[in-house]
Amino acid sequence: MSKISTNESDSDRKKRTGLILKGLQKLYPDANCALHHKSPFQLLIATILSAQSTDETINKITPVLFAKHGTPKALAAAPREEIEELIHASGFFRQKAKSIQGTSQAIVDNYGGKVPETIEDLITLPGVARKTANVVMGTAFGKNEGVVVDTHVGRLATRLAMTWRSKDTKDAVKIERDLMEIVPQKHWTYLSHALIFHGRQVCAARKADCENCSLAKWCPSDGIVEIVKSKTKKNASHKKNKKRKSS
Ligand code: SF4
Repeated sequence: MSKISTNESDSDRKKRTGLILKGLQKLYPDANCALHHKSPFQLLIATILSAQSTDETINKITPVLFAKHGTPKALAAAPREEIEELIHASGFFRQKAKSIQGTSQAIVDNYGGKVPETIEDLITLPGVARKTANVVMGTAFGKNEGVVVDTHVGRLATRLAMTWRSKDTKDAVKIERDLMEIVPQKHWTYLSHALIFHGRQVCAARKADCENCSLAKWCPSDGIVEIVKSKTKKNASHKKNKKRKSS
């Protein structure tokens, strides 16, 4: 079980985060975006489609989509029903079709057919919020303008106590602010990719494999995630027994 204090000072937290970052670099030296793409435009569209879906699903959809409509002009002009059919498996296909066609049209109309290279411009595009803009800025343009906080990053930043303004793993705004404060800017894009890798391979939502986690010595949640889980199970069976007795 971890001996890390939950009341550590800012400088201790910063030092510990530096060690976590080094640990991640050792574990995942090549951590990168899992969405397949050949251009900033393709990454932008793939990222919009990836909401509430998996990278695997999107990587099956986009080669077919881009083979037919691979440019902003072509995608904007395609029949809506055809786009909906092509992206159906990604879920929320009607809204996503509207967003990717709206974004394509806006790129044609306002940015000369090229994906804009600032967060401010990117978030004016339909269906593009700060998270998607961060993905494009960091991965497509190599500019560390922010930290992508998805479900894995939110969970891991909280378990690893790299965030302190909120205990809510879904509070992307506060988590991003904390990570930007505690991690040097040049590592922001890498940090997201590496935490996503670790979240998928070791520290999953339902099963944190603390025993085999090489970040455990810097993690205040080492062992605790499993205990919380078994307590929940215990509570569930206790409630079940109580129900049985009363029925
Ligand atoms: S697996 Fe356990 S020790 Fe490793 S980061 Fe997750 S909670 Fe911490």
